[in-house]
Amino acid sequence: MKVAIAGSGIAGAYLARILAEKGIFADVYDDLSHDTSCGYRSCGWGAPLGIDKYLSYAGLDMDDYLLERMSPMNFDGLTARTPLCTIHKPRLLRDLNSGLEVRKKKIEESDLPAYDIVVDATGISRSLLPPCRSDLTLPTLQYRVRAEAEGGDRLEAGVHGNRIPALGYVWIFPLDKGHYHIGIGCLGLAQMDEFLEDFCQEMSGRFHFTILCSCRGTVRVASPSYSTPFIVSRGTVDGRSQTVVGVGESIGTVSPFTGEGIVYSLECARILADSWPDFEGYSRKVLSRFSWMKKERETIDFLLSQVGKGRPRFRDRWRFYRNAHRSGIRLPLLEAFRRMGSLSMWVEGPEK
Ligand SMILES: Cc1cc2nc3c(=O)[nH]c(=O)nc-3n(C[C@H](O)[C@H](O)[C@H](O)COP(=O)(O)OP(=O)(O)OC[C@H]3O[C@@H](n4cnc5c(N)ncnc54)[C@H](O)[C@@H]3O)c2cc1C
Repeated sequence: MKVAIAGSGIAGAYLARILAEKGIFADVYDDLSHDTSCGYRSCGWGAPLGIDKYLSYAGLDMDDYLLERMSPMNFDGLTARTPLCTIHKPRLLRDLNSGLEVRKKKIEESDLPAYDIVVDATGISRSLLPPCRSDLTLPTLQYRVRAEAEGGDRLEAGVHGNRIPALGYVWIFPLDKGHYHIGIGCLGLAQMDEFLEDFCQEMSGRFHFTILCSCRGTVRVASPSYSTPFIVSRGTVDGRSQTVVGVGESIGTVSPFTGEGIVYSLECARILADSWPDFEGYSRKVLSRFSWMKKERETIDFLLSQVGKGRPRFRDRWRFYRNAHRSGIRLPLLEAFRRMGSLSMWVEGPEK
């Protein structure tokens, strides 16, 4: 049985590694031609410390990738302990890919007939599967900055949503060497660059920022339930049957509220490897395991339909609280309801 994996990002490379452990050797395709200075697409480096269990399953040691712990962390002025950290994603991808023979090209139609199973791990491109049932993508802009302060002050890790005149948030994630990612992801704000510059400008009394690089990106926040179909069977010219199956962000394993996709894409790849080759069973497990993403998506749809008209409902506030809780962020319930539920002044008007 010949297997190809299109995409050697987090999901594709991890899947290739753990399938190889099971004696299934896939041809991996990725042209890796990313127009970013780190050489990788989607420079998200924030993850829960629990990522270590996925890394050790693939024979990797979390200590080799851990940059900074993000505890405490500032959530719109509320400080909380978290199990979040930043990881060196380029190094992790390099190591996940080591030992794999990656064909440095995008997979093309003409490559497909050679395979019985083709995995679409192409992230936002979703190059092989048909379009999602109801897609939703979040534009992002991220700077990598060096922040210097008088007296060795450090920028606080944090996420800030309530000031944005749109649905989304700004993040400050510490990296190494005094570098930080400062990014914004939101729906409905045309001038993300201006907003981010103003955001940095406001801190310029305390910090001097040098922008080292910047990149724009898009994250699929549709949720798996709205990213179906994720299995397609078709016939090849020589009469065989071929299955295309999606994994990771191509099928929406990303938290719609936060845009976190790293650990969920690893988990999705693990479910696929464990279910192999029962793809119907895999599909059921993914939909069930990530059913909370469907609820988050429904809240986003509700808020988008309510621009300027309504307030988050009780269930929306609860879902925000559950999201933080799921990530191990312990916020006082009532305060979290007030702050995280307000989401942005776009929904509720400026904070009084
Ligand atoms: C700016 C930004 C910040 C983010 N921050 C975070 C964060 O802090 N924490 C977090 O958890 N998540 C974050 N995310 C989301 C997270 O990075 C993704 O959800 C995750 O990387 C998805 O992994 P993946 O392997 O499914 O897709 P990807 O990482 O996108 O990998 C897909 C791969 O497929 C390749 N490819 C595309 N088309 C083809 C083709 N036709 N043939 C072969 N290969 C192809 C691409 O080159 C790419 O290497 C962020 C995303 C962005 C854009």
